[in-house]
Amino acid sequence: MDTIIDRLEKIKLKISSLKPDKLVNIIAVSKTFTLDYIQPLINYGHLHFGENKVQEALSKWSEQKKVNKNLKLHMIGKLQSNKAKDAVKLFDYIHSVDNQKLADVLAKHQKSMNKNLNYFIQVNLGNEIQKSGIPVNELDGFYNYCQNEINLDVIGLMVIPPINQSAEEYFKSLNELNKSLSLKNLSMGMSADYIEAIKNGSNFIRIGSSIFGPRS
Ligand SMILES: *Cc1c(COP(=O)(O)O)cnc(C)c1O
Repeated sequence: MDTIIDRLEKIKLKISSLKPDKLVNIIAVSKTFTLDYIQPLINYGHLHFGENKVQEALSKWSEQKKVNKNLKLHMIGKLQSNKAKDAVKLFDYIHSVDNQKLADVLAKHQKSMNKNLNYFIQVNLGNEIQKSGIPVNELDGFYNYCQNEINLDVIGLMVIPPINQSAEEYFKSLNELNKSLSLKNLSMGMSADYIEAIKNGSNFIRIGSSIFGPRS
């Protein structure tokens, strides 16, 4: 049976066979798994981990981060404004900035904590069902607001394509939008579609089940 380390290495091999022109960061999405289960990957030296709930992430990672200063934690899930303070305390990257109220509280808290996180703006590429993400026609204005009015360090765009649909066109569109804003980083690609995402310029892939196995 393969271990989570074997699986990570397999993914790294697949990535290098694609010969991407920039470093691809693998965010190991550890939501729902206990620290005991994740620990071998931390000990192995893996640095990027992703969670989608602030409370779960706090109890799982607060102590770890004190011991291991190099760990980078990514908030990849929907973030409520009333959890923004805790999120700023714990995370290094937030992938799910998608409205002004949230952006404002993030800016306020990171200023008062004297921190400067990395942010992705989550984009809703015209899909009705999806509630998260800023609509494309508001993206320019929202980006300028975050970057210039409230000094959030927006490093790129993020998308979650709808399930049961070809992700490729979503990745292509997001890559184009990213370029139009001269942004350098893209958060796209999960276990099922990370190869396609990397082919379309992604350098932050969010991999859960392909590393840790199925979630219950
Ligand atoms: C859970 C999750 C992932 C990882 O999904 P897998 O299919 O298990 O790789 C990636 N991105 C987001 C936003 C998630 O919530």
